[in-house]
Amino acid sequence: MDSTNILAYGNASATEKLDQMNITRRALTSHDVEIEILYCGVCHSDLHIARNEWHSTIYPCVPGHEIIGKVTNIGSHVGKFSVGSIVGVGCLVDSCQECQNCKDDLEQFCENGATQTYSSLDKHSPDLPTFGGYSESIVVNENFVLDIPANLDLAATAPLLCAGITTYSPLKHWGVGPGKKVGVVGIGGLGHMAIKIAKAMGAHVVAFTTSEDKFTEAKRLGADEVVLSKDAEQMSAHTGTLHFIIDAVSAKHDINAYINLLKVDGTITLVGVPDEPLAISPFSVIMGRKSFAGSLIGGITETQEMLNFCGEHNITADIELIDMQNVNEAYERMLQGDVKYRFVIDMATLKN
Ligand code: NAP
Ligand code: ZN
Repeated sequence: MDSTNILAYGNASATEKLDQMNITRRALTSHDVEIEILYCGVCHSDLHIARNEWHSTIYPCVPGHEIIGKVTNIGSHVGKFSVGSIVGVGCLVDSCQECQNCKDDLEQFCENGATQTYSSLDKHSPDLPTFGGYSESIVVNENFVLDIPANLDLAATAPLLCAGITTYSPLKHWGVGPGKKVGVVGIGGLGHMAIKIAKAMGAHVVAFTTSEDKFTEAKRLGADEVVLSKDAEQMSAHTGTLHFIIDAVSAKHDINAYINLLKVDGTITLVGVPDEPLAISPFSVIMGRKSFAGSLIGGITETQEMLNFCGEHNITADIELIDMQNVNEAYERMLQGDVKYRFVIDMATLKN
């Protein structure tokens, strides 16, 4: 099969830093769209996967699943996009599109295994893994390409493709809206989007942070109340008050401290993926008939719905735009919690 060689940024093993490399993209098929990448967000999952923290990485690994770009070529059967369109690609680039979960717009749970944007096997070219957005361009089946609302800043929109949908989907699924008190734990890339989206949905939002310097900023992001989670007194003031909690913490932490803040029948949903198990105290869920749940990104239809919602409410991420060459430093800063609130790579700098 024909293919294209392009520039990218990635690593060849878990212990290596990311560096410039050449990769091969599959040639355009009749249902594919080729996209020149303009901006790519830096998700904490990029770091987890580049460093093989979930023990499933395929190397070489080119991360990046918060992609905004411009269509540069289309396959002969592409009907939804034309050359020049501004589009987005998130965490998924393919799925079987035939199983019940795909038919139910839950491609992220494809029974035959969805194709992740990077570090996944590509059914169109079995000898190549998928490579993500830290690259010049990408080739994607048109059904996995999203329209971007025209009023949103493009760089600040990139994080919606993962952080946006990962928080929108559970907030919607668990009925967050007016009259609901919602907790957001961990004010990073995902958490800050959860605050903005839950607020736009009409909920009363309580933000929980370990970082004193985010205390006042969480209110600027839209939180009605902010709690320093290290302060036991501040935590206990919220015992039994929250209908729903979204937990976006990337490292091991005490989940029971948050379950205790739920009302009777409340739900806490994990979206953060620490690389170690979290221990649940049986009494924390038994008392109050509480639910402990999880959620993975969102399907393609829901991702488009989220983008349209963000367009209507003028919601984008708070970003720090970086050069491609600064991504390793950005990973270290992300680990220190030193990002307000999402790094986005200006992909024009890849060729520097
Ligand atoms: P991030 O920007 O690094 O934010 C994580 C936040 O967690 C930090 O800002 C910090 O918030 C808090 N935190 C970090 N270490 C902590 C610790 N030891 N104890 C308590 N709090 C701590 O990461 P992100 O990109 O938002 O991603 C968050 C997690 O979600 C990652 O594990 C990522 O892989 C996962 N993820 C899951 C999905 C999904 O579909 N489920 C999708 C994307 C990402 P404070 O400073 O406010 O305390
Ligand atoms: Zn992500």
